[in-house]
Amino acid sequence: METYTKRVRDSILPLSVADTLPKAFEEWRFTGHTHDHEEPHETCQLCGQEGLRYHFEIQNRFTNHSLDVGSHCILQFNVAVYENGRRLTPADAKRQLEKLVQKMRLDSCIRALERLARAENSQILSGALKYYRTNKKLTPMQAFVVFWRLRRNRIDHDPSFFNVTLKKKRYMDDLAAMETSKVHYFWRALTPSQRKHAVTLGHTVPID
Ligand SMILES: [Zn+2]
Repeated sequence: METYTKRVRDSILPLSVADTLPKAFEEWRFTGHTHDHEEPHETCQLCGQEGLRYHFEIQNRFTNHSLDVGSHCILQFNVAVYENGRRLTPADAKRQLEKLVQKMRLDSCIRALERLARAENSQILSGALKYYRTNKKLTPMQAFVVFWRLRRNRIDHDPSFFNVTLKKKRYMDDLAAMETSKVHYFWRALTPSQRKHAVTLGHTVPID
């Protein structure tokens, strides 16, 4: 903790007017800008934490300096987060940052589906892209084809960012009738309760 605070102090004080930590942080706010680097290879410019995929930009209102940091540091040091001109409470700020991560994940799924639709001229894939844009979900049939083809085309994607819908009886029936090896293609996109459903329908948990 000692070195963590020291690292933070060394990064923020030279860019701030105040010369103590809590005071300096009062000059900073989250700008609303985020960046998805697609791979978890980035560093928090405040505390030096590595392995970040997402950056959140904070800016000092006096010096205009900005830093790309992890959301953990914004929450840890209570850096101001605004929504519609109103400063959020720490709990609301946390929710807001989580919402932004969800949005970046959704965008990353759409990008993968767009790449796939460009790579292969197929009605089911362009249909899946259209369906995902509207519903933010894939049907089980779409999910199998999408993950199979994403892998085949070596298109970078994270299956756990995707959502699958089982809300209609038809989708449950499709899932029940599907070969287990096909269900495994989109296993990571299923929620824990959807996985339980799949097991009740006779599918097995993939071993990996
Ligand atoms: Zn940090």
